[in-house]
Amino acid sequence: MSQSKRADCIFCKIVDKQMPAKVVHEDDRMIAFHDIQPKAKTHVLLIPKKHIESLADVSKEDVELMGELMIKIKEVAIELGVEKSFNVVVNNGSLAGQIIPHLHFHILSGWSGREKV
Ligand code: AMP
Ligand code: ZN
Repeated sequence: MSQSKRADCIFCKIVDKQMPAKVVHEDDRMIAFHDIQPKAKTHVLLIPKKHIESLADVSKEDVELMGELMIKIKEVAIELGVEKSFNVVVNNGSLAGQIIPHLHFHILSGWSGREKV
């Protein structure tokens, strides 16, 4: 197992196909998949394949990767048809509500009560 994977990490297991996921995008550096317990009509998680615990652990060597993730957020939003109205959330640290210690961007759209026709 490479240094950038953690044997006990659920999201590394999804990257390694040891756990199933409803994938909406995958390339050599990142993967996006539907959240198993959606908190909005559309709820997708975008993660780097590299095991980085949170934004507090990002370093200069991740500059290019982080830029690609930002662009991919936009592309996933377009792919899902929510580009006109979506939220991006990152929880960093357990006290901030982070349950899975592998960096992930929540892409959310269609909150009940906030939708306008
Ligand atoms: P966070 O609280 O920011 O760590 O968010 C973790 C998210 O991962 C939650 O919204 C969970 O519903 C979601 N989640 C946990 N396990 C899985 C899984 N196996 N596949 C997809 N989403 C998951
Ligand atoms: Zn991981």
